[in-house]
Formats: sequence, structure tokens, C-alpha cells
Amino acid sequence: MITDLSIKCTPEEAKNELFLRDYISQSLKISSDKFYFRWKKRSLDARSKNIKIQGSLQVAINEQLPNRIREFQFNDFHDAKQIVHIIGAGPAGLFAALECLLKGIKPVLFERGKNVRERRRDLAKLNKDGVLNSESNYCFGEGGAGTYSDGKLYTRSKKRGEVDKILEMLVYFGASEDILVDSHPHVGTNKLPQIITAIREKIIACGGEIHFESKLTDLHLEGNQIKNIEINKSEKYPVKYIILATGHSARDIFELLHRKKIEIQAKPFALGVRVEHTQQLIDQLQYHGRLNDDYLPPASYSLVTQVEDRGVYSFCMCPGGIIAPCATEQNEVVTNGWSPSKRNNPYSNSGIVVSVFPEDFRGKERDPFVCLDFQKEIEHKSWELAGRNQKIPAQRLLDFIKKKKSVDFPRSSYHPGIESIEMDEIFPKFIVERLRKGFIDLKKKCQDS
Ligand SMILES: Cc1cc2nc3c(=O)[nH]c(=O)nc-3n(C[C@H](O)[C@H](O)[C@H](O)COP(=O)(O)OP(=O)(O)OC[C@H]3O[C@@H](n4cnc5c(N)ncnc54)[C@H](O)[C@@H]3O)c2cc1C
Repeated sequence: MITDLSIKCTPEEAKNELFLRDYISQSLKISSDKFYFRWKKRSLDARSKNIKIQGSLQVAINEQLPNRIREFQFNDFHDAKQIVHIIGAGPAGLFAALECLLKGIKPVLFERGKNVRERRRDLAKLNKDGVLNSESNYCFGEGGAGTYSDGKLYTRSKKRGEVDKILEMLVYFGASEDILVDSHPHVGTNKLPQIITAIREKIIACGGEIHFESKLTDLHLEGNQIKNIEINKSEKYPVKYIILATGHSARDIFELLHRKKIEIQAKPFALGVRVEHTQQLIDQLQYHGRLNDDYLPPASYSLVTQVEDRGVYSFCMCPGGIIAPCATEQNEVVTNGWSPSKRNNPYSNSGIVVSVFPEDFRGKERDPFVCLDFQKEIEHKSWELAGRNQKIPAQRLLDFIKKKKSVDFPRSSYHPGIESIEMDEIFPKFIVERLRKGFIDLKKKCQDS
């Protein structure tokens, strides 16, 4: 018999097999040698000093626990007639390809960047020498922005698809089973490249195709139908079905669609800064002064406030993480964050962003490029002010609040380097003032909690 049992215990008890066995034995009134068990769901509640782990245990009485790794039946398509062309081998493109394999359709992918292994060399050059390859970087290449992302697999979004299926697929391709259990699942950047490679190998083994360094450069339409795609400005392929999975960094695709009179619209987005602290400080704040505790994971935070009727919030918080250079175009700087599965770097970082709407640009609201142009302008200005390389503009948080240029900085995880700049030089007032008020408000919330 398989049964679930709710549990709430201390972090020490949650890792103590004898304690858990005893708890099950007493709760279900069965002898401790009559069952197997494992965590089914697990979350950390650190809101009070009395930190707790809560969730449920799955208990198999007088039988083995069922296999948690789901077996997916991917079809073989070496002779398939029905083909879908997929542009972009990021998470969206790869998972679309896997779905094709499950549904009886052969996927053919075109990816502008390189495969995972070759891409790593370009990332090393970017981090070490500040040299950006605009076709192979943190966002472009096999696995897209997902390959060297942090791999946090949760969202505040209310829009939910088949989340469990995606998590199960990731486990099938090599992610830890913990992602099926933890309320805030995290894969870790060190693990993602192997998972992406395993997905590619499966697609190819089933008769699908993946072409690297193959950039979509044009579309040929007849009426409302895309009839041909052009790759690398030379080869042309007839297509019947096409999935555009080019992500949000490929601005040239939006320009192409616009040129082809395919309707696109500007949409609201969020823009801001990445803040970095020592992980020790965040642990101290979030764990009520409890430091270097082997039973607790590096602490994270999630902050939301409203400033003048607009959201200012933390985004993509990376405990034990690193800030990475994530530009895709020359003469621009962009940052994002990642962490390894153990989250064992001495830094923590998070995006703190302000919502931006097309209506913020009066008279241009209907221009589909209004938000993209604004984003581009900020990224270019940051590059120019920070020294025209991959260094990033930086300011101490307290100096930012006091409107003062920083004269020195603590060590930072960002490899290409940082340059002292006042954020007011980069962002327009409607962003920078909200960020400033947001930080003051968030500081107060941290102190009150
Ligand atoms: C450092 C970092 C950390 C992140 N951490 C997280 C996280 O923890 N959790 C989370 O949910 N998200 C995270 N993200 C964001 C996440 O990676 C993206 O939301 C996700 O990758 C989007 O998937 P996608 O497939 O839509 O697009 P992308 O990942 O952008 O993939 C698009 C692909 O299309 C290719 N492409 C573009 N144009 C063309 C063309 N013309 N022809 C052929 N190919 C083309 C690109 O090279 C790319 O490989 C992170 C991102 C970064 C950079």
C-alpha cells in the first residue's frame, strides 16, 4: 500500500532518516522495518525564528516505492513524412521538438548559435577578455538562454501549463529528482549543459535534426502562408509548419517579422538593476541571525512593493550565485544571474525591476518597437558609460539611495569588471526614482520581518 503522510519538522529532523522513520512508524502505527519512504513535497518556512520544513512523505508499506522517473515514449521518425521546422533550440524550441516526437511528427531545428561544448569557449572569452561573439553567448546557442541559466523552475505567473510533465521530462534527461519534490525547484547551471546535450541526443536518435550555426535570415510568404525559410542568407527550405522559438533576445527576428508585414505588438516588460550582496548577509537576514547552518540552504528572498501605482520587485534571485554578462549585440551590456546546483558561491544576486508599459512613451504607444528601442538605448548607454567593453556600471546601494557616486566597491562576482557610475545617468527619472523608493521600502520590509 502506498500512502502520503503530512509532516512539519525542524530542518535537522528533515535530514535525519531515523527521526523520519520513527515519525512514520508512530503516525501510521506500523513497525519501522515494514515500509520504504521518501519525501513527496517539501518546502522551507523561515518566516519566524522557529524555522520549519513542511510537506509530505510518500510511504510504501510492505512493497517497494514506485519509480519516480516517468518513461516517455519518443517515436522514431527516420522515415517520417510529416515535418515541423523549429527555429531556435532554446527551451521553447527543444521542448517543442520533444512534443513533436511524442505526437508523431519529425522536428527539424535550426539554431543560429553553436552546440553546448563549442559555446563554452565563447563564454570563457567573454568572461575573461570581455569579447562578445554576437552569435554565441549566454543567450544564443544550443539550449538558448536556458543552458547557462540558473535553472530555477518556478514562477509567480498564474498562467500554468503542464508543469509536472516538464519537470518529469527534465528528470528523465538527467535533472535531480529533488526538482519533483522541492517547492522551489532548482537545477543549477553546472547540471544544465548535460541535460541539454541529452535532449539533443534523443532528438537525433529518433530521427529529428538539429542544425547549428544556422540562422533564419528571411521568410518567404504567399498570402498568409510561410512557404520557404532562408537560412544563413543562402540555403532555402520549403516549409509547411514552422515554430518560431527565437526567444526575446533576438531583436532581428522582430525586425524581420515587421518587414514581412506580420503583425507584432509592443508589450509591457520590466527593467532595472541587479543587486549583489554577500550570501552571509542574506542568510543572516532571512534566517534571523542563524549563520553557517548545515541544515539550511543558502537563503533567498522575494520582494514586491508598489511605488506610485507601479510594481517594483525582485526577479530571478540567485542565492550562492554569480552575475553574468548576457548581451547579444555589440556595444551593449546586459546582466543576468546564475548559480551552481550547490549554490555555494559567497555572493547572492537578484534583479530588482520596475514595470514598463508602452504607454510610458507618449505619442509612441502604438510603435511595436517602442519598448525594444528603450531597452536597447539603456543597454547601449550602460556600455558607453562603463568603458565600452563588457564592464558594467555599478553603484553601492546606499550611495544610490543618497545620490552619491561610489568611490570603492567590495569584491564582485562579475568577471569582466565594474565601473563606478551613478544610475541616474543611465535610467530616466520614472525608473530611477521608483527604484530608489523601492529599495527604501524593501529595506524597511526586511527590517520589520
Ligand atoms: C544567466 C541567465 C539565468 C536565467 N535564469 C533563469 C531561471 O533561473 N529560471 C527561469 O525560468 N529563467 C531563467 N532565465 C531565462 C530563461 O533562460 C529564458 O526565459 C528561456 O531561455 C527562454 O526560452 P526560449 O526558448 O523562449 O528562448 P531562448 O532561450 O532565448 O532561445 C532562443 C533560441 O533561438 C535562437 N535564435 C534566435 N534567433 C534565431 C534565428 N534567427 N535563427 C536561428 N536561431 C535563432 C537563439 O540562439 C536561442 O538559442 C535565465 C536567463 C539567463 C541568461
